[in-house]
Amino acid sequence: MKILVINSGSSSIKYKLYDMPGEKEISKGAIEHINEPGSKVKNHYAGLKIILQKIKNVDLVGHRVVHGAQNFKRPVRINNTVINIIKNSVDIAPLHNPANLSGILACRRLLPGVKQVAVFDTAFHQSLPEYAYIYGLPYEYYKKYGIRKYGFHGTSHEYVAFEAARRLKKPIGKLKIITCHLGNGCSITAVNQGKSIDTSMGFTPLEGLVMGTRSGDIDPALVTYIMRKKKLNISSIDDILNKESGLKGISGISNDMRVLKKRSQGMRLAKLAIDIFVYRIKKYIGAYIAVLGGIDALVFTAGIGENQEFIRRKVCSGIGKFLKKKPRILVIPTNEELMIARQAYKLAK
Ligand code: ADP
Repeated sequence: MKILVINSGSSSIKYKLYDMPGEKEISKGAIEHINEPGSKVKNHYAGLKIILQKIKNVDLVGHRVVHGAQNFKRPVRINNTVINIIKNSVDIAPLHNPANLSGILACRRLLPGVKQVAVFDTAFHQSLPEYAYIYGLPYEYYKKYGIRKYGFHGTSHEYVAFEAARRLKKPIGKLKIITCHLGNGCSITAVNQGKSIDTSMGFTPLEGLVMGTRSGDIDPALVTYIMRKKKLNISSIDDILNKESGLKGISGISNDMRVLKKRSQGMRLAKLAIDIFVYRIKKYIGAYIAVLGGIDALVFTAGIGENQEFIRRKVCSGIGKFLKKKPRILVIPTNEELMIARQAYKLAK
């Protein structure tokens, strides 16, 4: 069965084609700069048309969808009801869900009759206990507006946690694992017996670790304080927290860890950005060891987690000292597309 995995972002469509159940990757690629000035590709429909000229005989499509809110605990077959629910959750995921939806609608038009499946970044974290996902806000906001921690990068955390168990040759049901997804967006998850029990991102992907351009955790009172000081409106403060903060905001030069590493010898703020990045990860690891009641494995993945050995070394230094048994440290390249293909296949079988 040929499964096309689609990850459509605001200006790009990335794809991979798998032959399942053998998990053979047949082809992959990306269309970028969709609807950007000067680009010939005006929308996702046009982008997908180009992809489908290269790919034939698709049996099933698996879509990455960022926000499934509370509606989706696992992957689902896409139908009109599912599309409407994703449409309705655009309000809480304005950056991602509209692009994911465009990809789905384009596929429906270009591949009529081909089954489609949605796999949600939030689904793996639907196992969080209530005391971990309810914020210290009036409870009625949860009931009225769905305000709670959702968590993201779920497909990646799930993939690397299960891969860790496989590599350790232990049943996942016997393991306490902490997974660190450190890319441009960064999140960390406590996985107990194969289930996510806490994760650092929240209602949106802004909470938690310091990221490339996102602030992560801050005192919530700062939002209104900065708005008043700088006379900002809602969308400007949103942009500052999401696009001008994190490594980029602290260092003043870049969100890219490679650049910061090079500059960290001579430039104080580049070094400070790295120190803050590492310190926040360490704090979360400590907290998650406490909530898990121990740790068997610490897993690093994504751009920084897979490639920046110096960050892994800094994060891990000292962690084994206060534990009876040192955790295994694993570097596992993430493969969200394969995970989506597996889940789509399982659902369609
Ligand atoms: P995204 O979250 O956008 O998918 P990535 O997972 O590629 O991003 O992570 C981007 C970060 O990873 C950057 O800070 C970059 O410096 C780092 N990174 C990515 N690839 C490499 C590499 N081959 N060597 C060193 N650092 C890398």
